[in-house]
Amino acid sequence: MDLCNLSVIRELMSDAGITFRKEFGQNFLTNRIIPEDIADNCTDNQQSLILEIGPGIGCLTQELAIRYKKVVAVEIDRGLIPILSRTMAEYDNVTVINDDIMKVDLQALVDEYSEGMPVAVCANLPYYITTPILMRLLESGVKFTSITIMIQNEVAARLVAKPGSSDYGAITAVLGYYGEAKKLFKVSAGCFVPAPKVDSAVVRIDLYREPKYTPKNEKLFRDLIKAAFEMRRKTLQNAVCAKLPYSKDVVLEAIRAIGHTDTVRGERLSTEDFVKLADELS
Ligand code: SAM
Repeated sequence: MDLCNLSVIRELMSDAGITFRKEFGQNFLTNRIIPEDIADNCTDNQQSLILEIGPGIGCLTQELAIRYKKVVAVEIDRGLIPILSRTMAEYDNVTVINDDIMKVDLQALVDEYSEGMPVAVCANLPYYITTPILMRLLESGVKFTSITIMIQNEVAARLVAKPGSSDYGAITAVLGYYGEAKKLFKVSAGCFVPAPKVDSAVVRIDLYREPKYTPKNEKLFRDLIKAAFEMRRKTLQNAVCAKLPYSKDVVLEAIRAIGHTDTVRGERLSTEDFVKLADELS
């Protein structure tokens, strides 16, 4: 069954008596090549368990099932579950779970299904909740090998931005703590039904197996990033002093110690710089 075919999508949904639910960010893929490309590129290990978020009617799920050992797909919309039972019937390596990915115990889920397999995440994410889902995955402590997500093109630009660029922000600096992101390809709005207002892009984040950075005080590292980007037009010194209990002299000394100028703004600092700054201030 071609699950990217518009007539097939409409027929499956009409048979199930449901329509697209905007509140769940339902924009389904209608260009077959896209789920194939995402599935091809989401991990290098075919023996992986893939955690898919939001399978919809299963167009990406089936491509994942063909390529990888096992797929566990978490879908919030109860109305889609009977459709997925139908479309995934021929794949005995797919498990569909009707739940909210923001509420699922990720470690318990992985423990239950992974049987020692490496676990990668792959998803065409609902746009309304992209960043919270990504942060939840990163902060879960689960050892995912990679996270491959289709997201709004502008958000993708932020995830892969370099320090000093206008797209570089708190999320970029925090993401750098967990792994390396690269943009795989852009997907135009016309590849979805209903068509969203903006284009999308697929980003793959390869997570560090072992932590690359080990700040002496992780909370301070995060607080510094938050402070720097909450007031990104201020100098780093002023932004930090406005939010954290350090004197101007102490902050300036730390900024100099990590090799930056007195007037540097936080947006110029890499993840590694923020770790060094936190260590200097610890
Ligand atoms: N994977 C399908 C595709 O590529 O055509 C659908 C992608 S659609 C952009 C996002 C999917 O995520 C929808 O099926 C939606 O119901 C589901 N979803 C939205 N919020 C969710 C949540 N919190 N937990 C799990 N699934 C969610």
